[in-house]
Amino acid sequence: MKKITVYCGWWRNTKVETNVKIICDIVGEIPCLECEGNGIWNYGYDESKSCTNCKGTGKQYVGL
Ligand SMILES: [Zn+2]
Repeated sequence: MKKITVYCGWWRNTKVETNVKIICDIVGEIPCLECEGNGIWNYGYDESKSCTNCKGTGKQYVGL
């Protein structure tokens, strides 16, 4: 596992350091930043639902 810094948020001003699994030279897989990798989005909702960011997979891809 390698650490990368991901810029997220509307203005790309939130820096998050996360582990990345290198898929190939230009693509890495990281735990979803919205749901912390569990695929469930439950912030402020009575019912938890699938995270829309990662489609419930808990993972998202980033360009390196
Ligand atoms: Zn997610």
